[in-house]
Amino acid sequence: MNRENKKRKLDRNYFMKHPCTDSFTCKECGWPVVSNGAGSDHRNHCPNCLTSIHVDNKPGDRASTCHGKMDPIGVWVRNDGEWAIIHRCRICGKLSSNRIAADDNPMKLMAIAMRPFASHAIPKSRLDNMIRSMEGK
Ligand SMILES: [Zn+2]
Ligand SMILES: [Zn+2]
Repeated sequence: MNRENKKRKLDRNYFMKHPCTDSFTCKECGWPVVSNGAGSDHRNHCPNCLTSIHVDNKPGDRASTCHGKMDPIGVWVRNDGEWAIIHRCRICGKLSSNRIAADDNPMKLMAIAMRPFASHAIPKSRLDNMIRSMEGK
């Protein structure tokens, strides 16, 4: 074990102060996830299926013992225009919001964003009316 790894083990708050450079295999889809290319310090979900693992109580603290898979259930756009994903833990139901990474699967992100519109909760005729009124017709 090298010194840096030892420090990680001893210091519970290591990931709050250091970028996470771990590579791992996605437990959901088997995608080999490397930290390079994320465009941010923390790679906390799979760029292919966007699934995350419940390891944090507070962002980056790795203090949770749940370790459930966290499904991407929604996307939202922050005030600065940056996209974030809302994850929900399959085991305990915890919700968390995570910044998207530069190489996250854009089709998957769009699919999550469009899900409410594709569901039958909103009849297509109402959507058509809504679009027409938004266009000012
Ligand atoms: Zn995955
Ligand atoms: Zn959980």
